[in-house]
Amino acid sequence: MGVQVKGLPGALVEGCVFCAISVGRAPAEIVCQETGALAFLDIHPVAPGHTLVIPRRHADSIAELDEEAAAAVMRLATRMARALYRALQPDGLTLLQNDGRAAGQEVPHFHLHLIPRWYGDGLRMGRGLLRRPAESPAEIGRRIRAALGG
Ligand code: 5GP
Ligand code: ZN
Repeated sequence: MGVQVKGLPGALVEGCVFCAISVGRAPAEIVCQETGALAFLDIHPVAPGHTLVIPRRHADSIAELDEEAAAAVMRLATRMARALYRALQPDGLTLLQNDGRAAGQEVPHFHLHLIPRWYGDGLRMGRGLLRRPAESPAEIGRRIRAALGG
């Protein structure tokens, strides 16, 4: 059963289904609510207990999360991980975030997937993705460090 939540004036993006879930305007199997973040079950789970953790305030991308929202999401993700281990006794969890359409993001409101995993469950994520980049690790490292400093 879903849980109704109070609205967040100014935080809603019209037409965003996860914003609608965040303020109780769309149904969802909500499993945990905190001030800054919300956890609910994925409507098309790839495993039992497949959970999404979102910031209450809309952000399309991880790059748009402010520190408060990032902390709220990660705090709730750790809490949910402990609950999933207790409730479902998975052998492990896969944490996944598709950022941007090129990465397969379908709902443009940041969300972290928590996917319970069992030995032999047959799920294959990120397999066969090993590629040799054209640039050396040293050059790629230099560019990333330069972006951090800028
Ligand atoms: P993405 O591909 O953006 O990382 O994942 C989006 C996820 O959101 C999918 O796993 C999809 O099943 C889930 N999803 C899409 N719409 C809804 C919805 O209205 N309610 C719930 N609970 N999950 C949704
Ligand atoms: Zn939204």
